[in-house]
Amino acid sequence: MKNIRNREGVEDVPIQFVKTVGEKRAQALATVGVLTVEDLLEYRPRRYLDRSNVVPIARLKTDEEVTVTGEVIQVEQVRRGRQRLLVRIYDQTGILEGVWFHQITVFSRIFRVGMTVAFSGKVIRYKHWQIIHPDFDIIDQKQSPLHTGQIIPLYSSNETLRKVGFSSYGIRRLVHLALERYGPAVVETLPEPLLRKYGLLSRARAYQQMHFPESQSQLQQAFRRFKYEELFYWELLMALRRRHDHSPTQGIRLTIRNEVLKKMVQRLPFTLTGAQRRVLREIYQDLTKGPPMNRLLQGDVGSGKTVVALLTMVMAISAGYQAALMAPTEILAQQHYLSMKELLASFEIRVGLLMGSLKHSQKVTVQQAIRKGEVDLIIGTHALIQEQVEFHRLGLVVIDEQHRFGVLQRAELIEKGGGPHVLVMTATPIPRTLALTLYGDLDVSVIDEMPPGRRPVKTYWRTEERLPQIYEFIRERIRQGEQAYIVYPIIEESEKIDLKAATVAFQHLQAVFPEFRLALLHGRLKMEEKETIMYRFKAGEIQILISTTVIEVGVDVPNATLMLIEHAERFGLSQLHQLRGRVGRGRRQSYCILVTPSDINEVARQRMQAMEATTDGFKIAEEDLRLRGSGEFFGTRQHGMPDLRYADLVTDGKIIEAARKDAFALVETDPQLRRPEHASVRRQFLKKFADRFHMAHIA
Ligand code: ADP
Ligand code: MG
Repeated sequence: MKNIRNREGVEDVPIQFVKTVGEKRAQALATVGVLTVEDLLEYRPRRYLDRSNVVPIARLKTDEEVTVTGEVIQVEQVRRGRQRLLVRIYDQTGILEGVWFHQITVFSRIFRVGMTVAFSGKVIRYKHWQIIHPDFDIIDQKQSPLHTGQIIPLYSSNETLRKVGFSSYGIRRLVHLALERYGPAVVETLPEPLLRKYGLLSRARAYQQMHFPESQSQLQQAFRRFKYEELFYWELLMALRRRHDHSPTQGIRLTIRNEVLKKMVQRLPFTLTGAQRRVLREIYQDLTKGPPMNRLLQGDVGSGKTVVALLTMVMAISAGYQAALMAPTEILAQQHYLSMKELLASFEIRVGLLMGSLKHSQKVTVQQAIRKGEVDLIIGTHALIQEQVEFHRLGLVVIDEQHRFGVLQRAELIEKGGGPHVLVMTATPIPRTLALTLYGDLDVSVIDEMPPGRRPVKTYWRTEERLPQIYEFIRERIRQGEQAYIVYPIIEESEKIDLKAATVAFQHLQAVFPEFRLALLHGRLKMEEKETIMYRFKAGEIQILISTTVIEVGVDVPNATLMLIEHAERFGLSQLHQLRGRVGRGRRQSYCILVTPSDINEVARQRMQAMEATTDGFKIAEEDLRLRGSGEFFGTRQHGMPDLRYADLVTDGKIIEAARKDAFALVETDPQLRRPEHASVRRQFLKKFADRFHMAHIA
């Protein structure tokens, strides 16, 4: 049965079908996710050895990253002292040693005197030139024609793979076999006109050139094709989603009661900024037009997004619908609940709160009220997207700190209503191309103005020896009636050790500040405890809040003017900026003090300097991208990001825009991907995104 399908392409051909792969080897390949021939073709070389760039041993310099080739002249297992394997190679100009301390037996079986090998890595000088645990490759096995080219692909391997003969060299032979046998069956997944438009390599040729490039330029062409393909499909997902969300059959046209809105605006303790008003006008228009709103609200920390959310919800509620606000942490949800409840006190708007840590009976009560329409404004955490939650008449969904949620979670909440309007808010300011890629299915509004009277937070980076003076400074300010946060880097709330560190630090600080009221806040506290602490901090009763990063997002206490971050080197730049955003919310001068050990690494140093240099979230985000690269920047923080293996969101802006245009144009002409010439696009799309997109939309 399988064979019949296989004629269509290589995607489902089990890897065992490739010559030389038996059950055992197939199992080993599965450890790196290679189950089919296509997976193998997608197993992209980790790097390339370009023989024209190989460095002669005589010209090595300490600490350089290099590739060296040579003939193995000695393989020695050293048993005295620390056990190690030494593999000496000679290249006519000198001798270099590859050194292994681990898996000595496995590696010793790989090398034989007389082989030609390549070692890559950082060279050090310890009696001889050495590379510790080099990346290596065997490049002259006679029976194989694979190594005649200038550019040789090197593949990642692991212990399991090596045991079955799949070190880089073995994998290369396997890929070669697979390409020979199945290469011609690789199905094209991009429409012909687009290939022609940009002169892209066919998919079959691109695989060939990615693994066995004829030249550097062909290698670049192969990557250009895969980058484009990857971005094209991502944008196709965006285009189809948007098309679906905006289809005129869906959506709720709201009849907003302007007098309620006006009254609410008057009730606010401040006047709206110009930017807030402009954004609210955009939202108002969306809500009254009919098709569901799908809008991203960007604004730096402290720019006043919450009140925009509140007024948007009031619009929906005044039109007779329920509105839901989802926040990423319980602390933030509680804070929104308390402040909104207070502001709405004189309105006939019923506010409910739903979070995971409520008692079961409380949860059930709230869920019932939501179902029966007995609450209008529902604030909550992830708990809102659980199955038991059914809305009576959901008209609007607001998602705060969107970057903390996945695209899927957003979709789940939206599913709860019959095409509700959606507003997502984020403080991560990102360049336009990134916004397009990340939120390609959304319209974007920006709050680019801070509330009046704000003074930029003064930021100082100090080493730990200065803590006594810093504590004195804090003491001084608190005597003036201000409040402080002291943040400890608990990366994982579940890590007991970290929690203990924070607890010890708390006890220490109680001794440092015996005259003040301190409290310790962390994610593992019970909900009532967190609530009480936040309430007392807000009321000014607690003067110093020692906290983990649970306060990172959203917390709003304008009287807090001091932010001391210990071990600041452990935080990313955007996270530091978010933390700093907890102060500078009132009219008084605020301070952010970053404390690190004195011997931090260069990248951490640059982060501290960037924090001192600017309070502009946009600049911070750009710097963060520069320091980390987009992979990591989004990898840990932006769930629901495209899982990009080839393209780089920072440097491939041009390809992003082209792919976006093409994908949207294609959906415009063929919204269901029904045309025969799009059959392979459709198939590929469903294969990639079946779990992210409701097939019903195009099936
Ligand atoms: P964020 O955009 O980070 O979510 P918030 O909505 O928490 O920011 O607002 C930050 C602070 O600014 C809050 O204390 C809020 O009450 C206040 N604020 C919001 N808008 C205005 C305004 N137009 N004038 C004065 N203060 C404002
Ligand atoms: Mg906020």
